[in-house]
Amino acid sequence: MNKKRIYGITGFSLVILLFFSILTSRINLQAAMGDDLETGNIPEVREEFTEEETKYIKDHRTLKVAYVDDNVPVSYTDPKTGELGGISREIFDRISEESGFDFEYVALPAGPISLDYLFENDFVLVTGIEQNDVNLNVKAMLMSEPYLSSKRVMVCKSDLTFDKTAEYRMAVPTGSAIFKKVVEEAYPNFEIVTYDTQDEAFKALIDDKQDVVMVNQYVASYSMTKPRYRDFTIIPVEGMDDNLCFSALVDVWGMGGLSPEEAKLLIGIINKSINNISENEIDNIVIKAAMETTYQYTFSDFIYLYRFAIIGIAVMLLIIIMIYIWMLRVRNKRDLQLKEEQKKIILQQKRYKMIFDNSDELLYEISLSDEPCIASEKIREKFGWDIPVKVDTLSIKTLSEILHVHPDDEDQFFSSTEGLIANKEAKDLQVRLGKDDGSYIWCKVEYLPILDDDNNMVSIVGKIVDVDDSVREKKNLEMKTRMDSLSGLLNKGTFEEEVRQYIEDNTAVSSAFVFVDMDYFKTVNDLLGHAMGDQVIKDTAVKLQVIFANCDLVSRFGGDEFCIFVKDIPSETLADKLNFAVDKLSDVYTNNGVRVSLTASIGAAYCSSPSIEYDKLLDCADRAVYQAKENGRNQYVIGYL
Ligand code: GH3
Ligand code: MG
Repeated sequence: MNKKRIYGITGFSLVILLFFSILTSRINLQAAMGDDLETGNIPEVREEFTEEETKYIKDHRTLKVAYVDDNVPVSYTDPKTGELGGISREIFDRISEESGFDFEYVALPAGPISLDYLFENDFVLVTGIEQNDVNLNVKAMLMSEPYLSSKRVMVCKSDLTFDKTAEYRMAVPTGSAIFKKVVEEAYPNFEIVTYDTQDEAFKALIDDKQDVVMVNQYVASYSMTKPRYRDFTIIPVEGMDDNLCFSALVDVWGMGGLSPEEAKLLIGIINKSINNISENEIDNIVIKAAMETTYQYTFSDFIYLYRFAIIGIAVMLLIIIMIYIWMLRVRNKRDLQLKEEQKKIILQQKRYKMIFDNSDELLYEISLSDEPCIASEKIREKFGWDIPVKVDTLSIKTLSEILHVHPDDEDQFFSSTEGLIANKEAKDLQVRLGKDDGSYIWCKVEYLPILDDDNNMVSIVGKIVDVDDSVREKKNLEMKTRMDSLSGLLNKGTFEEEVRQYIEDNTAVSSAFVFVDMDYFKTVNDLLGHAMGDQVIKDTAVKLQVIFANCDLVSRFGGDEFCIFVKDIPSETLADKLNFAVDKLSDVYTNNGVRVSLTASIGAAYCSSPSIEYDKLLDCADRAVYQAKENGRNQYVIGYL
């Protein structure tokens, strides 16, 4: 419902209420006057002023009139104009028109008003005085006829079942102590409490300090359009008419005021003026004034109207704020926990790194999660490289690159590391790892997969051990056992082993087994000395290595005998090569002026058949060299298998 509509409904309700109030009032007035509504609208006879009255009006044009304030809609100070407004103002203006007086309106203060106050403030007339026996008998006040006749009603909360014999507490907003007495006489079993204003009285009702409030029916109707008084109900009151009159202040005790004669003259003029105004006109004034004094909703009214919605919204807001605060706290707590955990992790990593750096071992951890990879400082010192801080995807190739594995060892590394990636197996292997200066050292690389609760590999922890010295020593030893110590060529056993292996691996290849035996080598020993003999053996070894290809297997068989296995060679090429060898091995050696000419005899076994045997090759070559010796030495003979 929008604001405009609230006003509309409120205004309409007020008019309806007032309309009924006026009807009640008219019926009351009609009963009192014994008149008919239809015929009583216009006064039958206009009352004219006497000469004395006319003169008095002329001499006393402006009269100071006191009015009861804060009695909406009957009489109140209009907040817009600061002057008297409401039903009374309209009626007084009409009386002013009828009489010719100019009224100077002055509001009375809230609360009980004493006669002293009225005299002290030089009021001539006081309005809003109720016509009752008490007031009529006050000598200092001369009452006019009523200018506004209405009823008093009682207002109580809707849930009160009114019983006039009960002992209620009744609030009466009045400035008149006399009126309190009137009410007390009418309701002897009630406890009467007076309040200075209507609002104070109604508030006492809301706060359950009072059970009922007695007010003028117009005031009741108007007040009940206020949202906070909506739950009130009106109870009609028998015999408590509220007929409002003027009262002239009469000088009785020498305190000021009019003389009794002058007061009588003035009240006479006021009475004639009142009587010259028709009831119909009064009705119209009441309706008009009521409409003009439609209660305007204030901010606090809206708060009151929508209090439950406001409370609901406030509660919801409070709940939302509390949930928000709770969520903030939870988030902060979580953030704190996270920070604590991060701190712990960082501390743990520092510790971990410290252990790595202070250990003699070359340790590393390649992390597959967000955590950084770490390695012993000694790895960098030894190899000149660091492992990367972050590894995106782990493969054997990546691992090989990280550790700088020698290209010749990659195959072995790949086959050994497959188990780590596929089956998460720990293993160690021996490979050469490269240094920044391009050299390689033999290392034992160990690795161990670290798995999480779901058996996923989260990192690889490993150790590198430098085994270069021991490996090289071992390899040297191996080499020595495989080589002829004098010539540096393969020894007989190694030669046989490798030839046999080659034959086994390469069945369909044409090969040659060459046997070289120096001619009359003993002469060298005998004439030039044994040392020179050794030197000749070394020279012959070098020559043979030059004559034959690197891939061919060249060996010293013993004494002055050498065997060469020539891999994959056509027979014509073999002949050329042997011819060249005979030529190159023919040489002259001197020592201490002694000269010895030395030659060599060569026998070769050539085999182009798919099946080939070492022993047959040796035998064939042996026979061929024998043949060469027989033929006169310094020549070659080829036997074919
Ligand atoms: P032939 O033409 O028939 O082969 O006559 P030859 O003198 O070469 O006889 P043979 O091949 O039977 O003898 C080889 C000699 O080589 C015997 C030995 O004195 C000598 N010899 C064997 N081993 C060594 C060695 O390690 N150093 C030296 N200086 N001489 C050796
Ligand atoms: Mg010989």
